[in-house]
Amino acid sequence: MTKHHCIICESTDYISIRKGTWDIVGVGDIEVSFDICKDCGYIGQISPIPYEQMIGHYEFFSNYQVLDANYKVPEEPNKKAARYIRIASDGCPTPGRIYEVGCASGANLHYFKKAGWDVGGCEPSHFVAKQAKEYHGIDVDVGAEEDILPNVKNVDILMFAHVIEHLHDPVSALKRARDCLAPDGHILFEVPCSIRPELLPIGWFAFEHLSYFTVGTVQNLLSQAGLAPDEIFTTMIDEYPALTILARPTDRKAPLFNCFENSLQFCEEYNALDRNAWTSHNQTFLKSTKDVYVWGAGVHTAQLFDETDLLKLRNVIGVIDSDHQKWGKKQGNHNIISPDEFIKKSGDSSVVVSSKFAEESITKAILELGVPRERIITLYDEIWETGLRKDRLA
Ligand SMILES: [Zn+2]
Repeated sequence: MTKHHCIICESTDYISIRKGTWDIVGVGDIEVSFDICKDCGYIGQISPIPYEQMIGHYEFFSNYQVLDANYKVPEEPNKKAARYIRIASDGCPTPGRIYEVGCASGANLHYFKKAGWDVGGCEPSHFVAKQAKEYHGIDVDVGAEEDILPNVKNVDILMFAHVIEHLHDPVSALKRARDCLAPDGHILFEVPCSIRPELLPIGWFAFEHLSYFTVGTVQNLLSQAGLAPDEIFTTMIDEYPALTILARPTDRKAPLFNCFENSLQFCEEYNALDRNAWTSHNQTFLKSTKDVYVWGAGVHTAQLFDETDLLKLRNVIGVIDSDHQKWGKKQGNHNIISPDEFIKKSGDSSVVVSSKFAEESITKAILELGVPRERIITLYDEIWETGLRKDRLA
C-alpha cells in the first residue's frame, strides 16, 4: 500500500480522525478518511480519491453552474465579491489585472470588471465557462489550473475564492500562481476556517474539501509556497467562518509550526457535535411515511445515507434532483429522477429534503409542485422557523 504524505510538511506520520463510506454521483462508492498530520497539524484527506475521478466529478456533477433559467445579474455585488474587491485593492490600489482560478460562471469577475479591473479566469467545466461568456461577456480559459497557469503572466491579483481547499496539491498551485504575478503582484485567497466547532454546519468534513485550514496551518501553507502574508483575517461568511489571505512572494522561508494539539482538539469537539446532529435526524425520519424519496443527489445525501439510519428505518425509493445532468444516474442503489418524474410516481410517499443551505428554497419548490407540507420532511427548519413553516402550520 502506498504511504501517503502530508501535503504541507511531507511527513507520513498522521492519524485518521473521521472515516466514512459515501456514494457520490459520478464517482461511486468511496471510502473517505479525514486525517491530521502529527508533525505539522495539517487537517485533510491525506489519502484522497484519485485526481482523475475528482476532475470528472467537477466536470459533470458539481460544477457550480447557475441553475436558475431566469437568472439576472444583480446590479450590486454580493458581500463576498465586495469583500474580494476591497481586499484586492489593499494589494493593488489602482484597478489592475485580476485572474481568478475556479471562477465558475464569473460572478466575482463581473464586479471586478465593473470596478475597472482587467479580468480573466479559468474553470474546469466547459458548461460553466460558457455561462460566464453568456451572462457576463467574460472569456474564461477552460481547464485545470496546473495546465492553464503556466501561460498566465503579469497579473496584479491572482485569486482563489473557496478553491484551495479542493486542490490535491495547494502548495504547488500557489507556487504556480506566484509565477503569474506582475512585480508587486499579490495572491488573494479565501478558504473555510476550522475554528469554533459550535459555529460550523453539519457535514463540515466533506468529500470535495481535501483541506481544512486553521490560522496556524494556513501560515504553514504560505511558508511552503514561498509567500508572506500582508493580511490574514477570519470572517463569518453566510453560514460558517472563513479565512481570507492577501500574500506576496518572499525569498525568506518561515519555519513551520506544529499545530497538532490544536487541530486534534478542534476535530474531536467538532466530531462529537456533528455525530449528534446526524443521529438526531433519525427521530425525524420516523415521522414520515415508510416509502420516501430524498431530494438532492449530492454530498449531503451521501453523508445522510452513511451517518444516519435512514436506509434502515425507511424504504428510499429514489433520489430527486433538479440538475438534468444527474437524471438517469444512480446514487448508491437509488435511481436519480427529475422533479416531474417524482410528481408522476410519488403517490402518497414523503420526500426528505437533503440539504442544509438550500432547505428553504427546495421546500418552496416542492410546495409549488403541489406536494402538501405534511409530506415534506425537513431536517433543519429551526433555522427558518419564522418563515414558511409557521405559515403552513397555522
Ligand atoms: Zn504535516
